[in-house]
Amino acid sequence: MINPTMEGLGKKRSVIREIFEYAKKRSAEIGAENVFDFSLGNPSIPAPPSVEKTLKELVEGTDPVLLHGYTSAQGDASVRRAIADSICRRFGAHTNADLIYMTCGAAASLRISFGALACEGDEILTFAPCFPEYKVFAESAGAKFVLIPSASDLQIDFDALEGAITPQTKAVLINSPNNPSGVIYGDEALRRLASVLRKKEAQYGHSVYLIADEPYRELTYGKAVPYPMAYYDDTLVCYSWSKSLSLPGERIGYIAVCERAADAGDLYAAICGAGRALGYVCAPALFQRLVAVCGEETSDIGVYRKNRDSLVQGLRAAGYTCVEPDGAFYLFVKALEADETAFCERAKKYELLLVPGGDFGCPGYVRVAYCVAPEVIEKAMPAFRRLAQEYGGNL
Ligand code: PLP
Repeated sequence: MINPTMEGLGKKRSVIREIFEYAKKRSAEIGAENVFDFSLGNPSIPAPPSVEKTLKELVEGTDPVLLHGYTSAQGDASVRRAIADSICRRFGAHTNADLIYMTCGAAASLRISFGALACEGDEILTFAPCFPEYKVFAESAGAKFVLIPSASDLQIDFDALEGAITPQTKAVLINSPNNPSGVIYGDEALRRLASVLRKKEAQYGHSVYLIADEPYRELTYGKAVPYPMAYYDDTLVCYSWSKSLSLPGERIGYIAVCERAADAGDLYAAICGAGRALGYVCAPALFQRLVAVCGEETSDIGVYRKNRDSLVQGLRAAGYTCVEPDGAFYLFVKALEADETAFCERAKKYELLLVPGGDFGCPGYVRVAYCVAPEVIEKAMPAFRRLAQEYGGNL
């Protein structure tokens, strides 16, 4: 028999991918310029020019056998040193090269971290709304996935968190800036979170890890994103350059373990073991070398900010409700009827392709991915207004 769980995962595409495929079909039918595809978090701006330049220099200036050869499974030593130095310089001394594990993006970082930590019966907790793939990664690592509702401003509800943590809780996962809400957890939130986790560690007599999923760290519009290791020792940071350098197809990221984490060396060994068990050998060698040079840069995110501002302003004027995102490139909007899937279906009439919030753990909302050309938003706004008018909104 074929593994039915895996068969199911393969056959049922994520709702985001379903809508993305529908967008492609509609574009072929009526022309891409008439379809407002807000489904996928694919960066719409190019990598900075230094990426192209560095790639060229690496290809022309490095022995090709070395350039394309295997690196150490955990990543090239000089690359890991450059990344650890960068983290220590920018955020304070929290890690070192022997606690950095290079990965094929944040998705791999998360799945490997869950595999390294979770034993039979362990729970991984996170906050709604969240990236739908977390559940797949946690459950395939053998953990129980627990979703905690957030406060009405989509920040952490600390009473709900305290109530949800049990002796089986192995890790609490945060994502800031958040997909799909764009919310950032500030200094006060991280202080309170660290204090709750420390209390629970003392109560249960074992570590409760904090896993920070940070592919959107650099995509912020003014508000600082505090570094979680500065607040809590038992922390792993899962990072990628998919969004900050607009390189999602190149699959490059890392896991950083805090050097003050309990048994940090053993935890790192478990990360190497989990990567090995999943069949990862090393992250793409060329892009490891690239991020050692360009890793602190960010694509020009001015377009995302412009899109955020015009969307928030335009949608509010049309009668929609949303929390203004401080980061990432998503807007989480209240659907204009209780059944957000029905709302998304109705939006399709206007060629507006939105993602229902149910898969993010927040029914009643829809996600608008605004990593698109500004003209798309401009052209889509009358469609948003006509949709709102069906519910009595402003035209
Ligand atoms: N985590 C979140 C919150 C995401 O939104 C994504 C991708 O969209 C990922 C992880 C996976 O990122 P990567 O492409 O680096 O694997």
